[in-house]
Amino acid sequence: MGLKFFNTLSRSVQEFVPLDPAGKRVGMYCCGPTVYDFAHIGNWRTFVFGDLVRRFLEFKGYSVQHVMNITDVEDKIIKRVHETKTSLREFTGQYEAAFFEDLTTLNCAMPHQTPRASEYIPAIISLIEKLIVRGLAYKTADGSVYFSIEKYRGCGCQYGQLVKLNFDEMRAGERVKNDEYAKESLADFALWKSRVPEDGAVFWSSPWGEGRPGWHIECSAMSMKLLGPSFDLHLGGEDLMFPHHEDEIAQSEGAALQRDGQRFVKYWLHGAFLLVEGRKMSKSLGNFFTLRDLLAKGFTGREIRYLLLTAHYRETFNFTLEGLQGARTALARVDECLTKLREVAGVEVKLVNKTRLEEEDSRLVTAFTAKLDDDLNVAGGWGVIFEWVRDTNRRLNDYTLTPETAEAAIKAWTKIDSVLGIADQNQIEIPAEIVALLEDRQAARKARDFKRADAIRDELKAKGWVIEDTPKGPKLKKL
Ligand SMILES: [Zn+2]
Repeated sequence: MGLKFFNTLSRSVQEFVPLDPAGKRVGMYCCGPTVYDFAHIGNWRTFVFGDLVRRFLEFKGYSVQHVMNITDVEDKIIKRVHETKTSLREFTGQYEAAFFEDLTTLNCAMPHQTPRASEYIPAIISLIEKLIVRGLAYKTADGSVYFSIEKYRGCGCQYGQLVKLNFDEMRAGERVKNDEYAKESLADFALWKSRVPEDGAVFWSSPWGEGRPGWHIECSAMSMKLLGPSFDLHLGGEDLMFPHHEDEIAQSEGAALQRDGQRFVKYWLHGAFLLVEGRKMSKSLGNFFTLRDLLAKGFTGREIRYLLLTAHYRETFNFTLEGLQGARTALARVDECLTKLREVAGVEVKLVNKTRLEEEDSRLVTAFTAKLDDDLNVAGGWGVIFEWVRDTNRRLNDYTLTPETAEAAIKAWTKIDSVLGIADQNQIEIPAEIVALLEDRQAARKARDFKRADAIRDELKAKGWVIEDTPKGPKLKKL
């Protein structure tokens, strides 16, 4: 069975067929963080969802180019830069660094490219110029540039593909300058905003005078620059459908860079909202959590990731502290089962990659894959996993598992975990290259070449592994 996603563009579940004629390469763009504060748990739900999509595509054998932008020029940022009297780079740099740190805490794979809007100004200007040439954008007296929805619709293009819009409410030529606006303010939106005193030092020169880009054009310019005018997947939270993604489509397809019959994006995937303790997150209700707030309460990135991955991405999810406790219990069950399997398989002593490869426990992998193929049905996937844990525990209790079958079960779990990324970091499989280095170090120590042994230890550390020398011999731990 093939992979299927719910495509917001068609409002239906569709089979995933990449644009690449060879069916191998996949271009995926996820709207990244606006770096004016720490990302909250609602934001993290979207980013972990993006990570799941990427990991599952890779698991399916696709070669994914994952791009996530860093929005470092935008209304809220400029306001904060002005208030804090810092430079743009200084202000956004601290939140950008925190974002990457949090991304690692949640064990999300690093996107292949993380373009900053401030470094793509020439691409943004060139895209705006194309829209002006095509008659879809116009300059106003103050030196700003707006996208004309009327002209766009006049060309036979549809504005309002992801959300339904009421054009009766729209007054031709009315403009909205803010980066974020409601459906009711259906109006021409800003591509380039002319410089005002509050912008301080945040401005660039352009053919229309000094100013800065609007938020929406940034994503159009960066995504097309890195992935081409047509790419496979565009992800984001459902709050971005309008105006952000709707405007991205209008700008990108308005510039008409796509080949005949191709769209800017083939599949639009949107993650649903997150409630915290049953209510919309708000600072005044005391249910507003950044990742750091939850870590300070003693929860781990692993527990938070697990909880975020228990619900289907299109369902509103109620995130609770009780749920995090439940995550801890569920993970302990998986860990306990895996520990016992390792004992039976004897992998602790032999080190996983050195043992002969047993056939994977294909039933587990096949059943899990079938669930995720179905528009990422993670709840079904967990059902399969916990049934497997129950079954494995029963076989462990019966002493019916041989070292070979135990090892095959571990292999199957490891394969599945390449999608979920929730394995205990202390128990994950050690790559062959790392095992070889460990062996070299043991040999160096035996030969009393401590200089070389230390050098290898440093090399391992640089690759993210630390050695702990125990009475039973050296153990490797992932940093
Ligand atoms: Zn975006």
